[in-house]
Amino acid sequence: MATDCIFCKIIAREVPANIVWETEQVLVFPDMNPQAPTHLLIIPKKHIPSLLHITPDDDRMIAGIYAVVKDVATKFNLDEGFRIVTNNGALAGQTVGHLHFHLLGGRKLVWPPG
Ligand code: AMP
Ligand code: ZN
Repeated sequence: MATDCIFCKIIAREVPANIVWETEQVLVFPDMNPQAPTHLLIIPKKHIPSLLHITPDDDRMIAGIYAVVKDVATKFNLDEGFRIVTNNGALAGQTVGHLHFHLLGGRKLVWPPG
């Protein structure tokens, strides 16, 4: 846990969030500033600053993220389409330094994303 990390505080239940899915290694809750009718954040419970910081030890967790994507997309009726986004680094717009995967759905999503 990183003491100054908002997502670590959510994992530790020190900051409230409406947790909609949880596994041994992964937590899912709504984004507080939703960009689509369904906008969830899928995060590892382990504090990893960005995709550049994952190691082979994280292989099982990364696979677990995508298993959760499938389960949550199904639970939220997103079978017709959804998008997974990871903003990595300041230039890509990453604002929280704890790896997370945005799950966006419930509307037509345009491409390119901008
Ligand atoms: P990013 O800008 O890609 O790093 O994504 C960080 C996301 O975290 C933003 O979309 C924020 O709206 C969201 N966020 C930040 N703090 C919280 C929080 N306490 N609860 C839910 N979402 C949050
Ligand atoms: Zn963290």
